[in-house]
Amino acid sequence: MSAPLRFDLIVLGAGPAGAAAAVTAARAGLAVALVDKAAFPRDKLCGGGVSGRAQHHLRRVFGDLPDGLLHPVAHIRLRHQGEDLGLQPCVPPFATTMRAGFDAGLRGLALQAGAQDFAGRRVAQLDPVGAGVTLACGTALAAPLLIGADGVHSAAARRLWGRDPARLAFALEVEAPPRPGPDVLEIDLGAAAWGYGWAFPKAGGLTIGVGGIAARNPRLMDHMRRYMAGHGLPGGLRIKGHHLPFGDFPAEPGQGRVLLAGDAAGLVDPITGEGIGWAVHSGALAAQAVMRALAADSPGAALRHYTNALAPVHAELRRARALRRLVYAAPLARAIARNPAIQRRYIQLLQGERDYADLGAASLLRLLRRLALPALDRLGPRR
Ligand SMILES: Cc1cc2nc3c(=O)[nH]c(=O)nc-3n(C[C@H](O)[C@H](O)[C@H](O)COP(=O)(O)OP(=O)(O)OC[C@H]3O[C@@H](n4cnc5c(N)ncnc54)[C@H](O)[C@@H]3O)c2cc1C
Repeated sequence: MSAPLRFDLIVLGAGPAGAAAAVTAARAGLAVALVDKAAFPRDKLCGGGVSGRAQHHLRRVFGDLPDGLLHPVAHIRLRHQGEDLGLQPCVPPFATTMRAGFDAGLRGLALQAGAQDFAGRRVAQLDPVGAGVTLACGTALAAPLLIGADGVHSAAARRLWGRDPARLAFALEVEAPPRPGPDVLEIDLGAAAWGYGWAFPKAGGLTIGVGGIAARNPRLMDHMRRYMAGHGLPGGLRIKGHHLPFGDFPAEPGQGRVLLAGDAAGLVDPITGEGIGWAVHSGALAAQAVMRALAADSPGAALRHYTNALAPVHAELRRARALRRLVYAAPLARAIARNPAIQRRYIQLLQGERDYADLGAASLLRLLRRLALPALDRLGPRR
């Protein structure tokens, strides 16, 4: 076998997390290999909701985005099991996107910044200790550090800590034709157990889906058919499914010379299912940790730098995880859905305009616990 191609950093996966890591490191002058098993543009099953938080991280990490990647939507309708709970404005507007074009656009910015393109190449071997990969075509890549941004079924993460499928969520989606009239986002808080249903209008289409914790939704397809029927959709549309992390993440986001970002690190909000913003933020943080460690000629310190930088994100996801038992617990969900003050907070969370920390999550949790302690004890896992 020929000698490995040498880089400062290998980034595995060129979704939002990998593109953010690659653009950050390449703009700082590092030699970056950006590897993805898929050729781009490739689709990614996703509602494509881009919260205010995500938009903030996107602008901060990538700068100006190519025109047309984001589609603003100014209103949201909450429902509970089909019942209309009212139309509310999204202030500032929420955005939606089609992931094929969005991911290709972000990856394009990373390549423009100088990252070397290894898309459409399957990884045959991954060395989690030495941070090297061998591609199926036989090319070997070596670097002092690797960022695993290869999604929910990350090979890098599996090698390091495995993942309990019962703690993942599963979601089903269809792409439907656009609806006439003004664009309105819709969330149905009762469309799945420990999850929800969504109808997100996009430029040229409407993405409809339901999702929730996999272990609590053995009949998710029935929920999906009901939800589709509620939207007047014919049965013949192709329904696709995909896992997503939903509140389960390792305390240490990597091991040795491997740092995990985005879904590979389990960084998805366990209530709203938002992952794009955290993917971009964590990808950039991982790259900054790599830059700092390499500048000090101490690659072994990268994971410590990254773990420290990611601590506020982990704290936020832990707060959300604690609240989730209350938000999605069946006896409470209906009451919560009808409370206008809680509705407003939910929408602000979904829009990324509020964090769980400034939501007063701890006091809300205390209050809800007091109201519902006997019911809670029958509700299953505490995480
Ligand atoms: C149905 C559904 C709806 C969702 N809706 C929303 C939403 O509305 N808003 C939101 O913010 N989030 C949503 N999410 C979550 C969001 O899609 C993810 O959090 C986000 O895509 C994570 O980005 P990532 O870069 O970490 O991973 P991904 O986007 O999954 O990218 C991973 C990349 O790694 C590549 N890869 C995988 N394995 C390998 C390998 N072995 N070697 C090389 N490359 C590899 C893949 O080809 C892919 O390009 C949703 C998820 C699902 C499943």
